[in-house]
Amino acid sequence: MAGMSLQDRADVEVAVLGAGMSGLCMGVALRRAGIDDFVLLEQSAGLGGTWWDNRYPGAHVDVPAPLYAFSFAPNPNWQRRFAAAPEIQAYMERVAREHGLLPHLRLRTRLVRAQFDEPQGRWELELGDGSRLRARFLVCSTGPLSQARWPDIEGLPDFAGVRLHSARWDARVPLAGRRIGVIGTGSTASQLVPPLAEQAARLHVFQRTANWVLPRIDRPYHAVDRLLARLPPVAALTRAFWYHVLEWGRRGFEEGTLARRGMLRAAALHLSRQVRDPLLREKLRPPYPLGCKRIIYSNDYYPALTRPNVELVTEPIGRITPSGLVTADGVERALDVLVCATGFDTTHLLSSVEVRGPAGLTLAQAWRDGPQAFHGLTVAGFPNLFLMLGPNTGTGHTSTLLYIEPQARYAVACMQAVRSRGLRQLALKAGVMQAHNEALQARLAGSVWTQCRSWYRTESGRITALWPGFTREYVQAIERPDLADYEFR
Ligand code: NAP
Repeated sequence: MAGMSLQDRADVEVAVLGAGMSGLCMGVALRRAGIDDFVLLEQSAGLGGTWWDNRYPGAHVDVPAPLYAFSFAPNPNWQRRFAAAPEIQAYMERVAREHGLLPHLRLRTRLVRAQFDEPQGRWELELGDGSRLRARFLVCSTGPLSQARWPDIEGLPDFAGVRLHSARWDARVPLAGRRIGVIGTGSTASQLVPPLAEQAARLHVFQRTANWVLPRIDRPYHAVDRLLARLPPVAALTRAFWYHVLEWGRRGFEEGTLARRGMLRAAALHLSRQVRDPLLREKLRPPYPLGCKRIIYSNDYYPALTRPNVELVTEPIGRITPSGLVTADGVERALDVLVCATGFDTTHLLSSVEVRGPAGLTLAQAWRDGPQAFHGLTVAGFPNLFLMLGPNTGTGHTSTLLYIEPQARYAVACMQAVRSRGLRQLALKAGVMQAHNEALQARLAGSVWTQCRSWYRTESGRITALWPGFTREYVQAIERPDLADYEFR
């Protein structure tokens, strides 16, 4: 096998699924641990994950960019504090190049099925082209926001104009001078509505629930900022500053805190300053407590809604026809382009892949009542499997990269424990996972996130996406694996 290209190998030590932020971080962690025998399987034609998928106009990160770079790969080149998608894509490509990940990358490669072969202690993988691959460890780094969700609205397939999902954008579709409808008013819609409003002849924004919008404290980074960012103490200070600001913001999710009072006041001021029309302002008042859904940070969303060519429609959607959209009151709006900014399926994680453990149970079956894991990383019944950004590791207040890095270290430490002892597999104890999830759910029970419907929760109301605490707490909890939580064979 030695000398054979990683592209041709049929048996590897680690198969990593997905080449987004978490897949790349995993690749770097593996290389640092001296494990070079791995592949990064990516179904798209390029790396980038969510940033590859979400190329709608206006896409940018909603945390300050100094926190949206890995600690081991600072980026002094950011052009703005809230970096745009193409910049982030370029950063990820640089990380992949500079950390020697490109030879490991297999693009346009879809994993269809994974089955654990217990006697061999290896995952048997079936790929989209019918070929097979074996790997001792499987890392699923597809993230919670990779499966685009189309709305379940009557007539959607019959629409004769162009139908776009924000996470499957087709930049070739002409938008200038056209009649455009946008369904959804979440983080994504708030980013794409302003640029669409500038081009469209008419833009109708269909809102089911108004969201909380706070000002985005954005600014361009100038040459002097970029020069300073090259000085390690300045870069470290800037990162630490934003880390603590956002952790402080986490307090805003709790009633009665100073942070919450400040955020409520800022949101009220933002709305009253940016929207003068009292009727429109009323339509934009959120009907749920701040923080229950992801907070939107935007300076141009409200102004876009006040443009003469833009209409905010709050009448519920009735059905879609070949020529447009009919609201419940019977009014039809003719559309050339229908944009669904309707988010992601976050409750059926990994549903496009059949992952089968040694007992014959698939992950989908094990997760019938919603996904669960141990610190979002390992799942009882699925040996040698690691998840990146798995259940209950999402964050509503800070950068996911702060969670990804320790997750990669934890997974690699587990792999090393198996390898260094000459063992075949490690398997999470079922009782450990159960106790962990009971404690997690008890803690989430009284939280702000229980007070509305969102992608953080399953249909039954269980919160499966979010980590309930502060970042430091999570990072400390997974600093190093407690091997007593696992059975080794
Ligand atoms: P989302 O937050 O799930 O929002 C989906 C929107 O579509 C909501 O307004 C929802 O209304 C609406 N919707 C869904 N089905 C509908 C239907 N059948 N009829 C009418 N309206 C419907 O999705 P998202 O905006 O794509 O954001 C998802 C997450 O991605 C964010 O929370 C954030 O974590 C991440 N994100 C990050 C960035 C960034 O950092 N740059 C940018 C975008 C997104 P309801 O509220 O009534 O359900």
